Amino acid sequence: MMKKLVNVLLLLSLYYVTDGQSLTLIKNGKTKYTIVIPENATVLEIQSGKVLQDYLFRMTGVTLPVVADNTGNAPEEILIGRVNRAEQSQVDYAQLKDDGLLIRTIGKKLILTGGKEKGIIYSVYTFLDQYLGCRKYTSDFTYVPRRRKIFLPPVDDMQLPVFAYREVYYNDVYDPEFMNWHKLHSFEGRGGAKTQWGYWVHTFGSLLNPKDYGETHPEYFSYYDGKRHAGLMPSWDKKSTQPEAQLCLSNPDVLEIVCENLKKAIEKKPEALYWSVSQNDNVNYCRCEKCAALDSMYAAYSPGEKILNTHSSGYSSLGMGSILTFVNKVAERFPDKIISTLAYQYSRTPPKGIVPRSNVNIMLCSIESSRNDPMTIGDQAFCEDLIGWGKLTSNILVWDYVIRFSHLFAPFPNLRILQPNIQFLRDNNVTALFEQGNIQSGGDFAPLRTYMIARMLWKPDIDIEKEMNEFIDAYYGPAASEIREYVNLIHDNNQAGKGVRMSIFGNPVQEKETFLSENLIAQYNGIFDRAEKKVKDKPEYYVRVRSARMPVYYAMLEIAKDEKTGNRGAFFQKEDGALIPKSEIEDVLYNFYYQGVKTKVSRTSEWHTPPKEYLEKYILFLNNREE
Ligand SMILES: [Zn+2]
Repeated sequence: MMKKLVNVLLLLSLYYVTDGQSLTLIKNGKTKYTIVIPENATVLEIQSGKVLQDYLFRMTGVTLPVVADNTGNAPEEILIGRVNRAEQSQVDYAQLKDDGLLIRTIGKKLILTGGKEKGIIYSVYTFLDQYLGCRKYTSDFTYVPRRRKIFLPPVDDMQLPVFAYREVYYNDVYDPEFMNWHKLHSFEGRGGAKTQWGYWVHTFGSLLNPKDYGETHPEYFSYYDGKRHAGLMPSWDKKSTQPEAQLCLSNPDVLEIVCENLKKAIEKKPEALYWSVSQNDNVNYCRCEKCAALDSMYAAYSPGEKILNTHSSGYSSLGMGSILTFVNKVAERFPDKIISTLAYQYSRTPPKGIVPRSNVNIMLCSIESSRNDPMTIGDQAFCEDLIGWGKLTSNILVWDYVIRFSHLFAPFPNLRILQPNIQFLRDNNVTALFEQGNIQSGGDFAPLRTYMIARMLWKPDIDIEKEMNEFIDAYYGPAASEIREYVNLIHDNNQAGKGVRMSIFGNPVQEKETFLSENLIAQYNGIFDRAEKKVKDKPEYYVRVRSARMPVYYAMLEIAKDEKTGNRGAFFQKEDGALIPKSEIEDVLYNFYYQGVKTKVSRTSEWHTPPKEYLEKYILFLNNREE
């Protein structure tokens, strides 16, 4: 029975292949093909035609004319978008929706088209990438293979997005071509992207501002530690002077003011669909009697069962009851909009006995997760929360974190967990994914991590090991094998059970006995010495290798500062007790600083400290003048 079935399948596939024609798009400097766009083409269709023409020329030296579809119908055509050719009847645009794409050969024609948002241009870039071998590794590094001939076997490839919303929050992403190539979004409309978002996150403070109401109506703000707090700044903001606050969501006046201000904001930006009504970036939620009653009424667990921890102090994550009661009421007033709210820190756990209204979006954040292991192993509490939310709604955006924000240049070996995490989210009803990387420039393996995540947001099951190797080969050239050796060594030493919990707010000093041990750091330096030698005459590779090395330097500097003396310390101790800065640490410091300024690194932490300031502070420390 099985064998019979296999035979039938074989026959079917043979039948298909022999039925379809192969296409010779370009051969020996010649082509019979034209690129056809609609007579009244959209901007995107025109752009798509020009992109294809441009890359085919760069590959072969042959220019295919871009013509309108009111020219005569020829047998050899590349049809871009909604052209008036009979083959269009075989395209199901309803299925392609917004961003779906179609690459299909019919006879000698090649159809490149897609859904009504970006599908058409996505089809062109996908064709260049997956069928012709072009690559967009970074905003300014594009690989275009040279070919004498472009031959295409029969193709029928429809791709629909796995995540309707895909954002990689890394500085280099927001190049318009990089975004189109990798099919990425921007909530802020960066890179010319169209955004559906009116407000993004942390909006309580602007929807009901403590500056306006703090003095006259303290009862609008959170009650904790025995009194009302109308502070504005989040705790991590150095300018914060007042205790930070949330809103007292059970107060009916708060609902009226928030809706009034939201209405005004929507009037200014009526085209935006998503509006965030969400907690400020602190965990000081309202514990007044009424708010606490709502939280406890809708809590799915008993108090104390869900204590989470982001930085140091723990908090209960059962605070969604009062928020969702409030947000559902707001959503009821704005039925044509989607009201988004955070399930974040104190509100992360899904409630019981209340469900989000149909026009409510839940933005669930994995800020607490450890990053050594995939979340299914390293953070089962988060996974439970995600699965729970998935049972309440299918409108979930997950906000995930992929770097170390407190030390952007500390080694952060999480490359192996990126794919299992994305796959897990895909498998659990997550329809939108925001991957927060470094929006400043630079950081540990920023270009590699950006590229890998971008590839996986479209194809979560892609062979990521192969993709990573390909990137490393292309980006580091003759030093690729050393970079690979380093990546493998540091990741091998950060496996389950080996490391302490790797948090996005950690310090490399915490890893000084694991993947940043003295022995391993020595090995990393050995690898990078070899790598640099291999590319010393090739400036474009050399600068990339030096950037990849910065995290090793940074770890050495932070550990040296922590240890002060001894093998890894910043100082020699003389017999009389005096501390003398070690010249090798000074070398590392100067190297780190120099590479930072050379590559326009803006900060070494998410919030502060450019390389120059890092250097100055470190010199102060070496001179023993730091407090
Ligand atoms: Zn309250």
